[in-house]
Amino acid sequence: MHTVPLRATAASDPAPPTLVFDIGGTWFRSAHFSPGRPLAQVQHRPALSFHSDRQASPASLKEGLIAYLVDTAVGQGARQCGVSLGAAMDARSGQVYGSGPLWGSDSGTLDLPGELARRTPGMRWQVANDVTCALLHYASQLAPQSPPLRKIMLITVSTGIACRTLDLRTREVPVDSFGLQGEIGHLPVAPPQWAPRRTVDLRCDCGGHNHLAAFSSGRGLRNLHRALRDQGHPLWAGSLLARLRAAGAAHEAALAEALQAGDPYALMLLHLSTRAMADTLRCALALDPELDRIVLTGGVSTHLGEHYLRALASHFDEAGLYLTSRFDPGYIMSRIVIATPGSADGLYGAGLQMREMAREWTP
Ligand SMILES: [Zn+2]
Repeated sequence: MHTVPLRATAASDPAPPTLVFDIGGTWFRSAHFSPGRPLAQVQHRPALSFHSDRQASPASLKEGLIAYLVDTAVGQGARQCGVSLGAAMDARSGQVYGSGPLWGSDSGTLDLPGELARRTPGMRWQVANDVTCALLHYASQLAPQSPPLRKIMLITVSTGIACRTLDLRTREVPVDSFGLQGEIGHLPVAPPQWAPRRTVDLRCDCGGHNHLAAFSSGRGLRNLHRALRDQGHPLWAGSLLARLRAAGAAHEAALAEALQAGDPYALMLLHLSTRAMADTLRCALALDPELDRIVLTGGVSTHLGEHYLRALASHFDEAGLYLTSRFDPGYIMSRIVIATPGSADGLYGAGLQMREMAREWTP
């Protein structure tokens, strides 16, 4: 443990920047934030996670994260910092419960705001969940609607899966008695079955089995593919995806190209991977009729775009909402959009979530 002294700011220095961070399972990013202006001095580095360093303990990964935040903030002379964190946490206190993408199955809590404050006396820190931050950014750009939207759910489909719902009338993201909302990635789901008595069981980053993220996250999609290949799925051997991979194409790029070409294996893979997600969305809409928009973000949905939406739509064609989908067959898909690039950025939302900036994201 060490406390880093803050750099003294002379009277002639420019105002210290508000620094924002976005901490994900793939990248750590930072930038200077000013309300109503584009982010400045955006920087990124590979994430410190149990995937990037298999030997590192959760304690050392957390220490590495704290050191990155403190060193960056102090090095740039910041006085206040907003952090968008890819972790399950108490939204009221900033207490971090765990992060599958960052620290695997470790479930030791971390008082991140408290630890940061202890090491940087005089510096103000605000830590919020990354999905909440992305949702605030998206909501801050909404054009007036008629009738007005009541609730927006934003789902990130990337290294992990989580969602948040914002009530636009109260501008609140309601939470339970532990400060949580929308941790759907670790809900148990039915494992995909690709032939009679041929199901795929997959382990989740959190240590559980057959969770939504185990099949529908970016890593889940890849693990599902490996399982199907290893189980000898008959469509794999002659598939375009197999040829592209054999030629050296990266998995994500090869999958997008194969989907574009209508490769039956790639279509089947995406269909199986999105089934649990479709089940979850259908259930959400059945339980909350005020969900007027569902925004998908994260690498999997944004990279696959229309292919991802078509896969979801095929599930809703098979089974929609009882009665509602008979009255309006397009009811579910008319509510689902994929965020345009940069429109749901946790890094920008990290600035918006800071209390004195709260009015800036008012739709
Ligand atoms: Zn899980």
